[in-house]
Amino acid sequence: MTSRARQFPIPLDRASSSKSPGAPARASQTLLRPQRPMHEAAVAARQQSAPSGLGLDSQGVRARMVNRLRADGLRSEPVLAAMAHVPRHFFVDTALAAQAYEDTSLPIGLNQTISKPSVVGLMIALLLEGRNAQARESLGKVLEIGTGCGYQAALLSVLGTQVYSIERLKPLHDKARELLAPLRRNNLRLIYGDGRVGHGPNAPYDSIIAAAGGDDIPPAWLEQLAIGGRLVAPMQAPGGRGQVLVIVDRTETQWLRQQHDAVNFVPLKSGVE
Ligand code: SAH
Repeated sequence: MTSRARQFPIPLDRASSSKSPGAPARASQTLLRPQRPMHEAAVAARQQSAPSGLGLDSQGVRARMVNRLRADGLRSEPVLAAMAHVPRHFFVDTALAAQAYEDTSLPIGLNQTISKPSVVGLMIALLLEGRNAQARESLGKVLEIGTGCGYQAALLSVLGTQVYSIERLKPLHDKARELLAPLRRNNLRLIYGDGRVGHGPNAPYDSIIAAAGGDDIPPAWLEQLAIGGRLVAPMQAPGGRGQVLVIVDRTETQWLRQQHDAVNFVPLKSGVE
């Protein structure tokens, strides 16, 4: 056993000899990419979770988050059950996963954030109180503006019959698709586009929810809201004093507006990038 190949240091051009003995350039490419195995490890870790996408080790910590939200006043049991089901840590960077079940917003890249669980829970609970929400348990057909990382879209798909979610930033749209794939939410469609015009082809919607706020509610959203439907969105407060959550209920004859809590969402922008 004294063949040259077993002596150390092994010449670089022999290091991957099992695959490509005569290709030193390829061998060095493979050796110099330490981030690749880490990426593969992350994918493998995701695949090890249960088929529903529920990380087996994270159920307890998620249950504690839900108990805190309930204690802090979130009363909608269907919303709390959905939040106990969807793994929020799937949707944030691995380095932030430990904070995924704290009540805090977190960066998701490109200057955007995943909203804090209490705000997501409040907005969806407000939607469920709309008139078209059957027995206050289903959101019906939903339009979401601002997919971001896809966390809220996943919750909406648990609570709605069909969900259409629009994102204007292509890298986030693509990433959300990738992150949502293991959850197999087949009643959720992701759309790349400018959500200020809503999504005409599938209108009207029983529920419309936006995760980005502009100066006013875009007219297309009001038109695409079903009669009896409800819209919940952040909007610039009158007089330019921050943002407030606005609720719009459409009746047969009018759109009724109410203002809710002060909030802090990223701006609703036009066009796509
Ligand atoms: N619900 C998201 C929150 C994302 S933050 C989540 O769970 O992660 C808000 C998102 O709205 C950002 O990704 C931003 O790019 C997007 N956005 C802003 N203006 C938009 C528009 N006109 N159309 C579609 N998406 C928009």
